[in-house]
Parts: sequence; structure tokens; C-alpha cells
Amino acid sequence: MNSVIVVGSFNVDHVWRCAELPAVGATIAGQYATGPGGKGFNQAVAAARAGVGTAFVCALGDDAGGALARQLAAADGIGLRAEASDQPTGTAGIYVDARGRNCIVIGAGANGTLGAAHVAADPELLAGARVLLAQLESPVETIEAALALAREAGVATLLNPAPANAPSSIGLLRLADLLTPNETEFAALLNRHVGERVEAEAVAALDGASLHALCRKLLPHGSVVVTLGSVGVFVSHPDEQLRGDAQTHYRVGAESVSASDTTGAGDAFNGALAASLARAPEQPFAAHVRYANRFAALSTERAGAAAAMPRHDEVQERFG
Ligand code: ATP
Repeated sequence: MNSVIVVGSFNVDHVWRCAELPAVGATIAGQYATGPGGKGFNQAVAAARAGVGTAFVCALGDDAGGALARQLAAADGIGLRAEASDQPTGTAGIYVDARGRNCIVIGAGANGTLGAAHVAADPELLAGARVLLAQLESPVETIEAALALAREAGVATLLNPAPANAPSSIGLLRLADLLTPNETEFAALLNRHVGERVEAEAVAALDGASLHALCRKLLPHGSVVVTLGSVGVFVSHPDEQLRGDAQTHYRVGAESVSASDTTGAGDAFNGALAASLARAPEQPFAAHVRYANRFAALSTERAGAAAAMPRHDEVQERFG
């Protein structure tokens, strides 16, 4: 049984580590590595390793990237529902300099053709599911259709509105029971959809009451979890829906770990949050946030994104 359904992207990441990022017209040397990526796939791996049945709905090309996705999904026990695309499997070209700064080019390829019809084509998909998790690396109409289908089926909807520059609409956001932006995405959504000017760098320092008020404007009838990197998270619920928590808004500090690579920490958090909600929906929301916070913290101790996701028993061993 698939308790978590992830709808989203798969990319083959091509990463070059260089001393400096290349300037226009320059040819430089770098160390190359390749591996799986895409927010959808990373989050599906996180949910599966967090220990719940997970299906991943995506679009893949008929190429080596598509074959890699099938092989890796099988290795993590993920039920793959891949639409065959006539486009190449998604790719990301990533340059990282010695200071950890990066430049990224995404070739959406097949991810850009994932159709709403594919999501709706399998009536069994949502049967028995508890959480549908989506991001914004797929066509916005497809994400909207997936969230609407889940709502109709009584499946909780979790939208991670990433990346920050992806198209979105207030209508799309409001199909989410839960919204999980990072600081940059939060600031971008407020500027774009609510007309509130907030600098991303200033979000973590805002007082709780101000942050809560902004969350309520963005998603009046849903909960918002703003991830704040090494600071932790901020949670905001509507008055009428506290999800078992004692307060409408609160912070949870980040776990103290030896973070060495925070790539995919947000994906770890989202996959683990979806898994925890699906495993024990009766628990207070704060317990799910604590679990996701721990899971994401552990992921930062390892290199990579999908490859860095810990397993449920590792999280329990480390944090009890
Ligand atoms: P990415 O884009 O790299 O996936 P993100 O910007 O979406 O990340 P962050 O807000 O940076 O996501 O991190 C998500 C969560 O991961 C944080 O809310 C926290 O729970 C955990 N986390 C991130 N960095 C650290 C850290 N240095 N130490 C402990 N936990 C961390």
C-alpha cells in the first residue's frame, strides 16, 4: 500500500566542482560527478527511507536517465508511475566553487511534459493513500490537478513550493493543506501573491507574531511550515485547525549535527514530514515536525541529495 504519493521531477545531475565559477567565455577545469536528483525523486527517496509505502509519479525519457530512475526507485522500494515522454529525461548542470556557491541550469525535458491525465489515469493511485506531496518542478496545471484529485479523495495535500522562481498562483497554493517554503520561497510567494515585501534574509529574524500573521495571509485555511536551514523551522496553524498542537505558532530549533553538505536538506524534510504524517496521523503535528527536523539534520552529515537520505532506524538510533 502506498501511503505517500509524490508527484514531481527526476533529473540526472551533472556536477562540476571548480575553484571558481566559470566566467562568460571562459573554459576551466573541474572535477565531475553524476547522480540522481530532482526534488520529486529526492523527496520520494526520503519518504520511502522514512519507512512508509511510497509511489512516485513522474515523466521519464526513453534513455539512460530513465533507466537510472527505474533502477534507483526499485532499489528503494518506490512504486514508480512513470509517464513515457518523447523528451529526454530531465537534467541539471551544476557548477560548485570552492566556497560552495553554485550555478545551476535545469533541462526540464520529460519533467516539463508530465500531464494531468497521467496523474488521473490510475484510479487506484489514491486509494489508501494518506498524503500527496508535490513541488513546482512539473507543469503547474499538472500539480494543480494532482492536488485537486487528492483533496477530492480525502488525501492530505502537502505542497513544497520550490524552486522559488517557479510559476505558481494563489489558487494552486490554496489547494494545499500544508505549505512548506524555505525562507527564499516564503519571501517570493509573499511578494508575488500577497503584496507583502519581505527580504528572504530577514525572515528568520522576524518575531513569531509577525511571521504567523504573514503565514495566515498566504494560506488562511492551511498550515505553513517555513524551513529556516540551520535555524530550524517555524510552524503556523489557522486558529480553527491546530492539528493536535497546543499553540497556533511556534519554532523548533535545528538539531545539533556535524553538517557537511546541506544539499537536499529541504527535500529530506518534506519527504520525512509526509511519511510521518502518513504513518501516525493521530499524533500532534509538532511530533511530525520534530521527526522531519531530525531526519533532515541527519541528511546534512552526508554528501549528495537522494544518496544522503537516512533510514528510519538510523533516525531513531541517533535521537531516540
Ligand atoms: P535545499 O534547497 O538544500 O534542499 P532548503 O533551503 O529547501 O534546502 P533548508 O531550510 O535549508 O531547506 O533546510 C531544511 C531543513 O533541514 C531545516 O529546516 C532543518 O530541519 C534541516 N537543516 C538544514 N540545515 C541544517 C543544519 N546545518 N543543521 C541541522 N539541521 C539542518
